[in-house]
Amino acid sequence: MSEIVTRFAPSPTGYLHIGGARTALFSYLLAKSLGGRFLLRIEDTDLERSTPEATQAILDAMQWLELGSDGEIVYQQARAARHNEVIDQLVAAGQAYYCECSKEQVDAMREKARAEGKKPKYDGTCRERNLGPGEGRVVRIKTPLDGSVAFKDMVKGPIAVACEEMDDMILRRSDGSPTYNLAVVVDDHDMGVTHVLRGDDHVNNTPRQILIYRAMGWDVPQFGHVPMILGPDKKKLSKRHGALSVMEYEKMGYLPEAVVNYLARLGWSHGDQEIFSRKELVECFSVDNLGNSPSVFDVQKLEWLNAQYIMQADPDRLAGLVMDVIRWEVGEEEAANVDQAVLRKALPLLQPRAKTLVELAEASRFFLVDAGFLQYDENAVQKFLTSESISLLTEYAAILRGLDEFSEEKLESATKKFIEDRGLKFKALAQPIRVAITGRTASPGLFETMHVLGRSQTLARLERVQDFGL
Ligand code: GLU
Repeated sequence: MSEIVTRFAPSPTGYLHIGGARTALFSYLLAKSLGGRFLLRIEDTDLERSTPEATQAILDAMQWLELGSDGEIVYQQARAARHNEVIDQLVAAGQAYYCECSKEQVDAMREKARAEGKKPKYDGTCRERNLGPGEGRVVRIKTPLDGSVAFKDMVKGPIAVACEEMDDMILRRSDGSPTYNLAVVVDDHDMGVTHVLRGDDHVNNTPRQILIYRAMGWDVPQFGHVPMILGPDKKKLSKRHGALSVMEYEKMGYLPEAVVNYLARLGWSHGDQEIFSRKELVECFSVDNLGNSPSVFDVQKLEWLNAQYIMQADPDRLAGLVMDVIRWEVGEEEAANVDQAVLRKALPLLQPRAKTLVELAEASRFFLVDAGFLQYDENAVQKFLTSESISLLTEYAAILRGLDEFSEEKLESATKKFIEDRGLKFKALAQPIRVAITGRTASPGLFETMHVLGRSQTLARLERVQDFGL
């Protein structure tokens, strides 16, 4: 089998949304699973709607998801001369023709056909007139008068459309610009694309594009059309269902590998397995397991996956990502005060409980602020920092001050001894300590927490609450 080449061909009219990212991922996995290449083409021919910002946003998102192109990125607009060259070849070969019918004339033809109960289309007036180029003329393809175009869609199965149903579509507009279908075919051919996976909003273009391949005598790639993604209400996924832009998920604290894993499972399955490394995705992916019905976006599942990835992530890497979140939240200047060594040490305690990096940043806050700035939950203070418990904490602080080593083990044995000596229950001391040093009633294990905070921060916090009971 010759080399497999797939591509993702977004139009830069907006950010990369979840649906587009999933199409890109499937195309990437199709290529990689078969040892092939994955290419990226920016379809920037719609000059009014395409923007450089959108192109950049798409490139950023592809980079974030690590869906790099195995070749130079192709910009469709830059290939207009090549598109026109192909159109000229088609005209020279008698596969396409110039047409001078005005828009009004074509509208009238369509209207007439509709009135006769036929498919509204161009009636072929100029088809055999052998017109040459001229002001206001378009170039149309000579769609065969009979026969059909059939292809086996990799996702939907066999599809056939009678040629009769298809118009002599325009290949070059009267302003000289090549049309979308023509450009896609020429680019896919020139890029050596063997498999096209795309959204099923393009399924009607495919037979039309196949006509162009046939007219040029080119090999036709395999096509697959992926169903769309729906919101939980089973309506087309839209902004009201949450974020649509892939990069918003970065801002919300998702890890790219969690998003990739989630998107891969959205419309594709491999037994009951939910968690896939990139390597496993590449090994297991097959178009045969792509579903043919729309998938429903489930943010809870994405959160669950993200939590799994956060749990397993390397704390050094997470520290960098949590710092990014802190920078977005409090600005560069304030973030510069964060003691990254403390953050790095705190993360393994927090990883098992966080669903997002934003939650992780929030949960790490009490580790990172100085005692004087720690925020206390009022209810927790009222409930657990009574004058009785505060005096207990004063005695406890004295014990901590005297420890020869501020390790988890020493903290644990000293604390045990402290409560035994006083005939207390662990709970009677644990919650006051927790509230005093973290400001809240839930936190990672006490001794680990104190160890990460270090002796002076722990003591400063125990001292700070001395005034609370007054
Ligand atoms: N540029 C098209 C889009 O963004 C995709 C074309 C294709 O994949 O063939 O919808």
